[in-house]
Amino acid sequence: MTDVEKRPDRSPVPADWTYAPAPESTEIVSLRERYGLFVGGEWVAPRTGEFFETISPRDEVALAQVAQAGEQDVAAATEAAREAFGAWSALPGSERAKYLFRIARVLAERSREFAVLESLNGGKPIKESRDVDLPLAAAHFFYYAGWADKLEYAFPNRRPKPLGVAGQIIPWNFPLLMLSWKIAPALAAGNTVVLKPAETTPLTALLFCDVLRQAELPPGVVNIVTGDGRAGAALVEADVEKVAFTGSTEVGKAIQRQLAGSGKKLTLELGGKAANIVFDDAAVDQAVEGIVNGIYFNQGHVCCAGSRLFVQESIYEPIVEKLKRRMATLRVGDPLDKNTDVGAINSRMQLDKIEELVAAGRAEGAEVYQPPCRLPEKGYWFAPTVFTNVAQSYRIAQEEIFGPVLSVLTFRTPDEAVEKANNTPYGLSAGIWTEKGSRILWMAERLRAGVVWANTFNRFDPASPFGGYKESGFGREGGLHGLEPYLAFDD
Ligand code: NDP
Repeated sequence: MTDVEKRPDRSPVPADWTYAPAPESTEIVSLRERYGLFVGGEWVAPRTGEFFETISPRDEVALAQVAQAGEQDVAAATEAAREAFGAWSALPGSERAKYLFRIARVLAERSREFAVLESLNGGKPIKESRDVDLPLAAAHFFYYAGWADKLEYAFPNRRPKPLGVAGQIIPWNFPLLMLSWKIAPALAAGNTVVLKPAETTPLTALLFCDVLRQAELPPGVVNIVTGDGRAGAALVEADVEKVAFTGSTEVGKAIQRQLAGSGKKLTLELGGKAANIVFDDAAVDQAVEGIVNGIYFNQGHVCCAGSRLFVQESIYEPIVEKLKRRMATLRVGDPLDKNTDVGAINSRMQLDKIEELVAAGRAEGAEVYQPPCRLPEKGYWFAPTVFTNVAQSYRIAQEEIFGPVLSVLTFRTPDEAVEKANNTPYGLSAGIWTEKGSRILWMAERLRAGVVWANTFNRFDPASPFGGYKESGFGREGGLHGLEPYLAFDD
């Protein structure tokens, strides 16, 4: 009999434990009523004359008006980037590095302001934006600053040269971090940039323009155009040498079709349906923490989220039991509260999608568990959810939910674990939990995933490449691999 079975009602923290509120002040953030587009180092009004409201998903309160860029606006931004390209790419790498170091330092200095704004506009818990998004965003600029004057060493005998203007399109789950993943390597390699943030989370990218001015980056080297998917589509069509996209597989495929034969370089970082695989010799408590972090971090709005849990049959019951107990201690609520573990769902549209897939899971016959938790009345919320009794063919085991919803499946042998884990159109990440090093290596070799974590999950480092196989996209971000897509070579 396992420990868990002996002590079924002992929970580390009672489910009804109440915490005193610990709200982070929002005073550090000052917002304008209305934002234009950042083109050639200046704020300009959109030629469309259109603006839209950006809200906070925690209470649906409007935060600011943001410009909707049209084709002409995107063209003006790419022209500004092209004009800036000559001087920027001719700078010695050591000079470009100085700007990147400055940006990194300013981001670190202003990290609290950025973290609060990220949580306000996107809904993620402040402890995550403060302890994960901001340190990693600054770290990316620091890291790529170091490569700017060493490109010849990074790619010996290949004469690396910048491509020109990069058009970059990012999603809403890690707004500032994705901006850093895109802009830092592009600038280090000597390119100039036009970046479009997601419609629901434009504010940290707009605040970043202030950082660019503080760092005295030459005008036009980075341009920010806001708007919905139309602005993204215009940027793909625009006069750019390279398109870098992170977002849904559906839009990624459309972009690939659009660019076929155009000669423009493309990298795609798309969806995922990662397998988190727990063997019966794993350290169970650590594995449960890893499972929780794998799926409930950032409300599950994570492309590499461990959304399919595979448990070896012999430990299925204790793992599910411990997992449910741990879920009961997750604090769901105000993203600006320092105690919050699971914040607000990013948008009404995303909440609808999560609800639709969860309803499909119930209808297909899976068993659902949600810990008792009081959700705020206003705003967009979804309780942490786990499905058991899931068949591989269910939609919840196949489709990317992009929310705090976990599907649990079982396996008996390592071969079966590999086969089931690879049974998805995606291939972005995977996790393995076992005490056996040889099994980790055996599994990692066979899993068709760009990133494989062992006895941990959701770990990121600027020096480590990240990207997918199959419908999760192609190209890598991070590390030396992340520089390559922004360079042309003689060979
Ligand atoms: P999208 O792929 O639509 O959005 C990603 C970015 O692309 C946004 O900036 C978006 O603008 C822009 N965009 C939208 N349409 C086009 C287009 N035709 N051409 C160029 N750019 C375009 O993702 P969604 O925000 O709609 O999310 C839908 C689903 O995608 C989620 O439920 C999730 O499953 C998945 N997703 C995966 C992500 C990942 O990191 N792998 C990230 C985000 C979503 P806008 O915001 O204005 O629509």
